[in-house]
Amino acid sequence: MPDRSFLRWPFFEDSHRDLAERIESWTAREIAPHAAEGHGRDEVDRAALGFVKALAGGGWLGHCVPAPWGGKNEDYDVRSLCLIRETLARASGLAEFAFAMQLLGGAPIALFGSGALKKEILPGFVSGERIGAFALSEPGAGSNPGELITTARRDGGDYIIDGEKTWVSNGGIATQYVVFVRTGDPGPRGLSALVVDADATGLSVAERIDVVAPHPLARLRFEGCRVAADRLLGSEGDGFRIAMTTLDMARPTVGAAALGFARRALDETLARVSTRQIGGQPLADYQMTKAKIADMAVAVDTSALLVYRAAWTRDVLGGRTSLESSQAKLFATEAAQEVVDQAVQLHGGEGVVAGSAVETLYREVRALRIYEGTSEIQKLVIARETMKNFSGQGNGASST
Ligand SMILES: Cc1cc2nc3c(=O)[nH]c(=O)nc-3n(C[C@H](O)[C@H](O)[C@H](O)COP(=O)(O)OP(=O)(O)OC[C@H]3O[C@@H](n4cnc5c(N)ncnc54)[C@H](O)[C@@H]3O)c2cc1C
Repeated sequence: MPDRSFLRWPFFEDSHRDLAERIESWTAREIAPHAAEGHGRDEVDRAALGFVKALAGGGWLGHCVPAPWGGKNEDYDVRSLCLIRETLARASGLAEFAFAMQLLGGAPIALFGSGALKKEILPGFVSGERIGAFALSEPGAGSNPGELITTARRDGGDYIIDGEKTWVSNGGIATQYVVFVRTGDPGPRGLSALVVDADATGLSVAERIDVVAPHPLARLRFEGCRVAADRLLGSEGDGFRIAMTTLDMARPTVGAAALGFARRALDETLARVSTRQIGGQPLADYQMTKAKIADMAVAVDTSALLVYRAAWTRDVLGGRTSLESSQAKLFATEAAQEVVDQAVQLHGGEGVVAGSAVETLYREVRALRIYEGTSEIQKLVIARETMKNFSGQGNGASST
């Protein structure tokens, strides 16, 4: 039985406690039985789309979009998003991914799109008819998005996009992409964001990418891809701010996914060490096992504190939360890696059997330290914000 005592913490309202209970029982019923589905690329695509449909049917995608466009809450409620991602991650990495991408693909539109664009696109995110994607990274610009070189030049009432995007989650199954492009001078201030339909002429999937924990992922090519100018989010030059504002909100939720993987690893380990007999006693009785369990439990709770502190800060205090978000993402993803690794160790040979719960977690947790800003990039943000606060330039919360 997973430990749910953290729900008593002061970061939560009763509505969150209620949501946590509902997503827990819904996930056990609707997601867990399908967790092992999807091996080849086509199967993984189908499974991801199936999870989007299931999440829509359960009403959970309403948390990925604000209320005026079919969502549950007036504004994003990051604590709810974290509780949902954490719970889904405990059951299925792919279901968690399907939810996360509806958030990441929809948020830039919800936060910066025109009224007409929001009305046209966002309800489809809630119903699951639209599949989101966020195309920022390029072969030459991952940790350094300010250096991206995909261009969009104005041509009458359109933009013409040329270039390449890579590591695009949902690449190949998305119905539209939020694409970050250069419309101006070199550097972050020359970037803009455009919504590009997947069937736009001049956009193609150049390559599908297979990773250790399979999910739809692709490199996209734009060759004279024509997009109406009214698909611009915000104004020209807002692209970097749009990307970073979206990531500020999303990063605690990545920490929450990591937390879900870590909790599952701890639960699997507690079950294993209490039944595995070694030298006439359960593995759990050995002091070295207890030390490992203690380390795992502290890592899980510390991650939860940082994740829900960041979510609470965004929900209750508002404004930019770069410091809290980066701390949550950095700590929770690094700690989850350690926790999962200890779980594999305590399972012995069983821990590396392909398809076993902890082996799956071992593969699923790895990419979280890389995407939405690597751990090293989180450290740069945390150091910058900490120094800013020390010199009095910070605003108590944080800004980028
Ligand atoms: C599974 C997966 C899904 C992804 N999904 C998406 C997506 O949907 N959309 C999207 O746009 N991108 C996505 N990405 C891309 C991801 O955000 C990038 O991989 C990430 O930002 C790192 O960029 P890079 O791979 O080019 O590595 P690099 O930038 O080349 O980094 C290599 C190493 O150098 C380190 N490094 C870089 N700069 C510094 C520095 N200043 N100081 C110290 N060390 C530094 C990095 O931390 C890293 O360890 C995804 C990636 C993966 C693996």
